[in-house]
Amino acid sequence: MSTSVHASHEAQFYSREGGKVRCSLCPHSCLIADGRRGLCGVRENRSGTLYSLIYGLASSIHADPIEKKPLFHFLPGSTSISLGSIGCNLFCQHCQNYSISKAKFGQFDLTELTPGDVVRYAGTTGSSSVSWTYNEPTIWHEFTTVASKAAHVAGLKTNYVTNGYIQEAPLRELKGVIDAMNIDVKAFNEGFYKKICGGTLAPVLKACEVAVELGIHVELTYLIIPEHNDSMDEISQFSKWVVDALGAEVPIHFSAFHPDYKLTNLPRTPERTLSHAYDQAKKAGAEFVYLGNILAGDKDDTRCPKCGTRVIEREGFSVRSSNLKGNRCGKCGAELNLVL
Ligand code: SF4
Repeated sequence: MSTSVHASHEAQFYSREGGKVRCSLCPHSCLIADGRRGLCGVRENRSGTLYSLIYGLASSIHADPIEKKPLFHFLPGSTSISLGSIGCNLFCQHCQNYSISKAKFGQFDLTELTPGDVVRYAGTTGSSSVSWTYNEPTIWHEFTTVASKAAHVAGLKTNYVTNGYIQEAPLRELKGVIDAMNIDVKAFNEGFYKKICGGTLAPVLKACEVAVELGIHVELTYLIIPEHNDSMDEISQFSKWVVDALGAEVPIHFSAFHPDYKLTNLPRTPERTLSHAYDQAKKAGAEFVYLGNILAGDKDDTRCPKCGTRVIEREGFSVRSSNLKGNRCGKCGAELNLVL
């Protein structure tokens, strides 16, 4: 069923402050006057009750290879029914999905879904998982959690493709609900988050740490933007933080920037920058490093960190072959960080 009129559903994670409400879903902690919406544009105060305006409303539904998220260590080679709504809680000048993340109500013919519809879409597309992606799933919390629980009952796994801009209490509610996350760490400096994204870095790093602690399978994406977050010092610091704070086994995807939205004046990321980033992360001790959005050669393959055997070979989003015994290296038997 399609609708262009936004539905509503009482939101979680808010409190009343005078005649206003304080949303505590993401670190913006918006204080929202009656009749107004938070910065994400999809949560509205109506007479002291906060509503999600996008509950069950999807802008996009596609069956994607899981590798497209990118998630390389989570059900490799599988199909994932992928859903997004509209809106975002960051304001990245380089957003590559801005037609969705910046869409206003009425600009999209939104499809109204029940959790059962999500499960049915997964079944008809042969999907092994449900991906909440395209726009920021954090701001769709009330629906993604309910539909993810339905997905689990149906034997499906679930994942978020997220900017990690979420407060700790709602993130903790995702334990046992969301199985995997690809979290964007957009830079490793606060100045970038403030100037380019309208947010802050510290809560994102905290969210990564909490997600790992909760047992959620985490992979990270770092989009390298020329002149903004491409210094090898910054990339080296980021890589060391991943290894020290999250673990050497957490996969890192360095992705190439292409000019988009408000950052059309910048060049694409040179291949040599991506290669240097790959080397920096390896030097820092990261066991699984990948390059994306370019022809990556063998830098999108998975190798056993112990013996170097190529255990998963990829071409584009396709998994061509594997040398695995369960989640162990087929040659040396080392246990690998893979969810199969
Ligand atoms: S989720 Fe939306 S309304 Fe809530 S704090 Fe974040 S930006 Fe504000």
